[in-house]
Amino acid sequence: MNIPLDAAGIKVLKQYSCANQCTWCDGCGDYGIWTAVKRALTELGIAPWQVLLCYDVGCHGNMSDKLLGYRFHGLHGRVIPFAVGAKLANMRVPVLAFGGDGATFSEGVGHLVHALRSNYPLTFILHNNGNYGLTTGQASAVTWQGQPMTASPNGIPEHTLNSMDFIFSLEPTFVARTFSGDIPHMTKVFIEAIKHQAHGFALVDVLQACPTYNHFATHEYLLERCYDVSLGKHDPSHFVKARTLAIDTQKRIACGVLYQRTDIQNFYDRLMPRIGEETTLVQEVGKIDVCRFMKRMV
Ligand code: SF4
Ligand code: MG
Repeated sequence: MNIPLDAAGIKVLKQYSCANQCTWCDGCGDYGIWTAVKRALTELGIAPWQVLLCYDVGCHGNMSDKLLGYRFHGLHGRVIPFAVGAKLANMRVPVLAFGGDGATFSEGVGHLVHALRSNYPLTFILHNNGNYGLTTGQASAVTWQGQPMTASPNGIPEHTLNSMDFIFSLEPTFVARTFSGDIPHMTKVFIEAIKHQAHGFALVDVLQACPTYNHFATHEYLLERCYDVSLGKHDPSHFVKARTLAIDTQKRIACGVLYQRTDIQNFYDRLMPRIGEETTLVQEVGKIDVCRFMKRMV
């Protein structure tokens, strides 16, 4: 990994570190994701003052005070709308949104639907640990059916959401999968997902170990099954093959950039009033003197 050095020879990766102690459980996959995000941003030459990092509620959201950058920590399941609004206001800033599987596939699912169909210029990193970890291990929509969980010791009666089939049904432009136990692989995938922001919505499904509450898709289980499709003959531009590969996780789990297309414009570039505009919305708002509106109110 080619991490740049500063004048003193110290790895610039440290620029993202802050003094707050991590509170995740021992062995949590969040540690690996946290490290890979720092590495990816550093590899891309993006400094903390140049990026916006958005989180919602969940164990992953506790990263918001452990990773420097402009940061927003909002409501459960609502990270996508905030992150998209910020990005559209200033297209020059890379924006990363982080969400968990619980929120994303339940109260936040509508936002995910519209992010995919709109092709918003955003990188979305899904911390997929198969449960609601922060609230002590309840089943989420992607918990395996029949799997005993804290609030459902006999397993959940609902069938498991086939999240990848659902995502592909919404005609994404970028879908990747990676595993929290493989930091170099996550770094590589995150870099591609951040670059894809210029083309639209990049979704990265990170299969995350949660040793405290997910005793089925464990670190060892994922380690045995995950493999990197970029080492084979996979063509990420082939929608049907990518979808098939993404859905079939019975024996092996395909990771890497599973699908990507760059021939569709992102949402912002398709907005007719913005065509030919050189300024950002933030700059334009800054030019408006609101005094006369305020005077009307007094
Ligand atoms: Fe990590 Fe699970 Fe602990 Fe949350 S509950 S910090 S996801 S191991
Ligand atoms: Mg979760």
